[in-house]
Amino acid sequence: MKLLQERIKQDGLVLSDKVLKVDSFLNHQVDAVLTMEIGKAFAEIYAGKNITKVVTIEASGIHFAMATALALGVPFVYAKKKKAVTLTEDLYSVPVHSFTRQETYQVSVSKRYLSADDHVLIVDDFLATGAALVGLTEIINMSGAELVGVGCVIEKSFQEGRGLLEEKGIEVHSLARIESMSPENGIIFIDNESGAKVTC
Ligand code: 5GP
Repeated sequence: MKLLQERIKQDGLVLSDKVLKVDSFLNHQVDAVLTMEIGKAFAEIYAGKNITKVVTIEASGIHFAMATALALGVPFVYAKKKKAVTLTEDLYSVPVHSFTRQETYQVSVSKRYLSADDHVLIVDDFLATGAALVGLTEIINMSGAELVGVGCVIEKSFQEGRGLLEEKGIEVHSLARIESMSPENGIIFIDNESGAKVTC
């Protein structure tokens, strides 16, 4: 997605060759117009695939899931990382290890909101190690729902996430794929159509 790549180039901060800071427009302060365009882009990719629910994980995936769900005309569900006192019903729950935060947390979705009748599109902000998304795919499997695909806003293609998901036969679409990055040389993207490396 050209608009997104240009914005990452313009406002993203490459903190190291592994970490990209995008909190001025994607995951702290949020550009709502760009978010809606991202939702439309995922909806276009998955149009005609009979998606009944968009699923994400709190917190940084929520606005992208909402934009996508709105464009598809379906509800979205966000998996919770902490068990609230109101979450009293039966849950699908899996442990996820966060490499960025160096902690393991329990990810849960109420059994009321996912069923074997659902065709699910997972949407999230980043695909890095894939731990969070692999956890979500396990929850979808537990529910018996069909996982149609995974949409990521930014994929760090030099990390193992895509490989882990594809190994499980899961279709992955990322709107911006980063081949490599460094504070000195900036970001090199992978063109989604040709697979060519582009500096944007
Ligand atoms: P995972 O390693 O499980 O694929 O990524 C888990 C979460 O870590 C992502 O959803 C995202 O919120 C966060 N994350 C991973 N890499 C980066 C990064 O380079 N920059 C930012 N801002 N967040 C990241």
